[in-house]
Amino acid sequence: MRRILPFVLLVFVAFAFLAKAIPAQDETEQALQLAAPTDSSEESAAQATQVQQDKEERLQQAIAYQRAKNTLYFVDQGYGILFLVLFLFLGISAFLRRQIERITRKRFWVVAFYTLFFLIIAFIVGFPTSYYGFSLEHKYELSNQTFLQWFGEELLGLLVIGIIALIAVEGIYLALKKAPRTWWIYVSVVFVGFAVVLVNLAPVLIMPLFNVYTPLPEGELRERLVSLSHKANVEVEDIFTMDMSKQTKKANAMFTGLGNTKRIVLGDNLVDEFSTDEVEVVIAHEMGHNLMHHIWKGIFLSAIGSAIGFLIIHLTGPRIIIRFRNRLKIDKMADVASLPLIFLIFVIYGLITMPVFPAFSRHMERQADKFALDMTQNKEAFISAMDELAYMNLSDPNPSPIIEFLLYDHPPISKRIKFAQEYQF
Ligand SMILES: [Zn+2]
Repeated sequence: MRRILPFVLLVFVAFAFLAKAIPAQDETEQALQLAAPTDSSEESAAQATQVQQDKEERLQQAIAYQRAKNTLYFVDQGYGILFLVLFLFLGISAFLRRQIERITRKRFWVVAFYTLFFLIIAFIVGFPTSYYGFSLEHKYELSNQTFLQWFGEELLGLLVIGIIALIAVEGIYLALKKAPRTWWIYVSVVFVGFAVVLVNLAPVLIMPLFNVYTPLPEGELRERLVSLSHKANVEVEDIFTMDMSKQTKKANAMFTGLGNTKRIVLGDNLVDEFSTDEVEVVIAHEMGHNLMHHIWKGIFLSAIGSAIGFLIIHLTGPRIIIRFRNRLKIDKMADVASLPLIFLIFVIYGLITMPVFPAFSRHMERQADKFALDMTQNKEAFISAMDELAYMNLSDPNPSPIIEFLLYDHPPISKRIKFAQEYQF
């Protein structure tokens, strides 16, 4: 174990990325200082005090909201591990597989039904924490969804994950059966191709299931985009707006897709609330992600991370099965009832290597910020865009260093603003 650990720490970078890279969420998060009015009359002084109070209140809310979300995150991880351990060690997993075998003995169908039932059970067991997450969004008045709209999307998400998981799990168990010693190599290689296809298809196949994407219309913003592209000496990017306000009051933008589907996506809240200068800075930031091939870098790292993950499963899984054979009622990895064990090892691997991906992501975000500043030469708009995002999204501008180290895939807003203020062109 001691030999594996440095390895693991070096790499994880990856599996976490898959989850993030699929719609390559770019939560251009954080901070909280609305520009105070500059007028000097008494009336506006009163207004300024009001704005100051409003900011202060919003900051306190942001701290409470983020604290609740962080707690939820760790509780959810612990809860997930507990579920997997009980599901395996109480013999439920083997019981489920036996029940399916009463209907069919065909390996393909046993794997398929097991995967489906397992996902549905995990969905039900995970419902309380998901629902708590939804209720937090309402408590802090960030959600625009009714319970039914939210639940409908959860079910749709389950369907999408179900289809992807079916393909992946069938592939893994086919490899485990045909090549018990080298399966993890085949799986790791195929995984990369699978990730590339998914990232490519997500913007045209998966994301439109949840939101409507509209090409950015002709107008000032498009002209700014074209001139930015000329300045950076690149082709004009595909750029879309999405009806994000269907779900949330938060603002966001992202760079997503791969090859023929890559594009910048702006949330409608962002386009509505931000000045043209501010949107331009955001577009420049997303262009930076494209020009610096951040999605490819992420896929590369996730490939390494997942390969190491599969290797660890190969090295530890069979030993755990032998050691606890009587409890698990499983006698080989190629039995689909070992699926929760694969998840369990991955979750623990993910926890050990937890800081790696966020550190890598924060580095890329800083590069994109730098690019945005160089392109627009507009520190003021950059800083006010950050303030506005933090205000709308209830981001904590100064999280504790431990939380930043473990969870932040963007630098905290205070650091992004400080970076802009001190930046030398
Ligand atoms: Zn970014």
